[in-house]
Amino acid sequence: MRKTCLLLLLCLPAAAAEGPKPRGVIFLDICSARADHFGAYGYKRDTTPNIDALAGSAALFENAVAMSSWCLPNYSSLFTGHVPEVHGQYVSIPYRGMPGFETTLAERLKSAGYATAAFSGGIYFMRPWGLDRGFDKYVNVFSTSTAAPGTFGETLPGVTEWLDGNKDKPFFLFIAVDDLHVPFQSEDPNMFDPGYEGPVNDPSLRGVPFFRDYNDYLRGALPEDATNYARVAAFAADKDGLAHLTAKYDAALHTADKRVGDFINYLKKSGLWDESVFIVSADHGEQLGEHGLLGHTEGLYEPITHVPLLVRAPGSPAAGKRLKQLVQRVDMMPTVLDLAGVPYGDLQLQGRSLVPLLQNPDLEFRQYAYSSSKRNLPGVSDPLIEERTLRDGRWKLHWYLYKDAYELYDLEHDPLETENLADKRPAELNRLAFELLKQVERARPHAPGLPVDKDFSRTGVSRQRDRY
Ligand SMILES: [Zn+2]
Repeated sequence: MRKTCLLLLLCLPAAAAEGPKPRGVIFLDICSARADHFGAYGYKRDTTPNIDALAGSAALFENAVAMSSWCLPNYSSLFTGHVPEVHGQYVSIPYRGMPGFETTLAERLKSAGYATAAFSGGIYFMRPWGLDRGFDKYVNVFSTSTAAPGTFGETLPGVTEWLDGNKDKPFFLFIAVDDLHVPFQSEDPNMFDPGYEGPVNDPSLRGVPFFRDYNDYLRGALPEDATNYARVAAFAADKDGLAHLTAKYDAALHTADKRVGDFINYLKKSGLWDESVFIVSADHGEQLGEHGLLGHTEGLYEPITHVPLLVRAPGSPAAGKRLKQLVQRVDMMPTVLDLAGVPYGDLQLQGRSLVPLLQNPDLEFRQYAYSSSKRNLPGVSDPLIEERTLRDGRWKLHWYLYKDAYELYDLEHDPLETENLADKRPAELNRLAFELLKQVERARPHAPGLPVDKDFSRTGVSRQRDRY
């Protein structure tokens, strides 16, 4: 019997492409989840027991790379299969929305007969940003009164109710989990560092305005900065503060993982677990003090770009294996469409389907992974983050347009990028700089002038462009 199963698995790659399709595809995206804080990725704390168990029956991608440093461009790349330079969703205010030329993942699946639903708690899933396109059911529980993200615990009852009503047809279910976005919401915030008393217990220290001022980005540009600088000083004076902030982040991840466990139990009971594709990933990670940075948006260091990715596909020979190939978030749309058996050749997607890797985990895949970080700041017209990174299996190059500087790191020996080798390794620097130039050329829209229908005049982008 065992031999028969083995033979079947070996035969599966050819059969899977034309074989029965999964009943549904579930994509679970945990905002701000850095890969190295998951047990399955080697973390010291028991943050993610349920997702770690999932790794036993899923393909775990050890080198999954985010497209950008913050939520909106990464979600948009997931839903369009295009890099941020193409979909243009890196300007947060005023609302731009998904461009009309894009066909979203949900739209393509819906037109192929799939029931589609999205549940989320983050601000960028509010409808003006246009991530709702193609979803029959679209629920966002971000609180506009408190500016707090909604948690998976809040959306989970609606998720299971929707599945109960739609599990008899092909379905695509997207869930954005926002427990881990600041302020790091958790059932037991002090579980990993009990007894702490200090400034980190003030929730305003676990927020975007505080992080921005801690990072010294746009010093003094916003009215709330003066108050925040007093908080930054208190935080810097607290020798236990950073460790406790990290513990609160880990506690939020633990709570999110618990809800994932609840959800998996529901899927098992409802009979969907073994017949559906289940994907867990993150839009981007989170800085927890590395390089003097907190949060995300500022920087494309590994805590932000290295994201978890586990793909559980029925019958995949990669189940339980760890894959080292470089893969990117832009690969997810062709992957999901491939797994669902829905064509996408007309969409000119920029990623590559991971299905060949799920069928043969030893295949070569991609030599370079490219990420870009662009961001305006609401109410501030001039400052704009502009950074690009390119990495291969070992080296990673950072290129800052606004600092006119390079950094080069050896990820094999220095995974947290502590020693800049730009001056010591000119051969690697030149090779990656040339490849980065090629990536930038491939990524930019190839038409003269500014992208059509985009008025950048209020964001300062055009002024910034004049400096290049
Ligand atoms: Zn995010």
